[in-house]
Amino acid sequence: MSIELTASPRIALVTGGSRGLGRSTAINLARRGVDVVITYHTNRAEADSAVAEMTTLGRKAVALQLDGRATSSFAGFAETLRVALRDNWGRDRFDYLVNNAGTALYALITETTEAQMDEIYAIHFKGVFFLTQTLLPLLSDGGRIVNISSGLARNTYPGSSVYGSMKAAIETLTRYMAKELGPRGITVNVVAPGAVATDFGGGRIRNSPEMQKMLVGVTALGRVANAEDIGPMIASLLDDANHWVTAQRIEVSGGQGI
Ligand code: NDP
Repeated sequence: MSIELTASPRIALVTGGSRGLGRSTAINLARRGVDVVITYHTNRAEADSAVAEMTTLGRKAVALQLDGRATSSFAGFAETLRVALRDNWGRDRFDYLVNNAGTALYALITETTEAQMDEIYAIHFKGVFFLTQTLLPLLSDGGRIVNISSGLARNTYPGSSVYGSMKAAIETLTRYMAKELGPRGITVNVVAPGAVATDFGGGRIRNSPEMQKMLVGVTALGRVANAEDIGPMIASLLDDANHWVTAQRIEVSGGQGI
């Protein structure tokens, strides 16, 4: 697809790659022969263990700290990434960006505060927009971006109005990114996982038998997902075989809410 993508190995940046879906994506990219830079927010130990797992798989992996809300830090992050690419790979570009990092909010419309909305906007939309903008000079022509949405952009559950709306915004942003970055051969798609039992929201799905029972009832494949139901799909979407897929929303939910 591009000149730069002939470079081997490919290098991915997965935000929030220390835990959950991001970690599964990073590990599955490593299994496919991709080297990986993950970011973590505060949990350095989990990031180190993810790096160790990828190293065991024979890949080169690096963990960098990032606060996805802190737009003023993004230029500094890009410089740290540039140095990491040069020192570890002798390259000045990476190939795949997975905008995954995020936090949960469950609050009814009547209870939601302005601060909560600002927080979710910062991590799930503004941060994704400006981090991508800042990293574009480091992303290879012919590279790929995957944004992470949620089934809650389509399914409607009380308490997810702000979160679901921000994820819907990311889906629209994905199409605009695909349009504007197409001339560089960069594909941009959005993956919308259904509910997944991770640490997300304090382990709300993982720790609640009632929630799991409800989800099983509305899921065609009849069980609750774990991170390994999602990460391999995201990793596969970055494969060369998908070079003509862009501007698409792909729901990975076992058929939730259909
Ligand atoms: P987890 O809570 O398991 O992991 C969150 C990851 O994001 C961690 O690596 C964490 O880093 C990082 N992170 C948290 N806050 C920040 C921040 N302020 N800046 C940068 N990084 C941060 O979440 P999931 O893996 O479940 O979710 C990942 C993505 O998938 C999110 O975008 C979420 O909205 C989406 N999603 C999740 C679903 C689910 O049911 N779990 C369903 C649909 C979509 P650290 O380890 O340092 O804390």
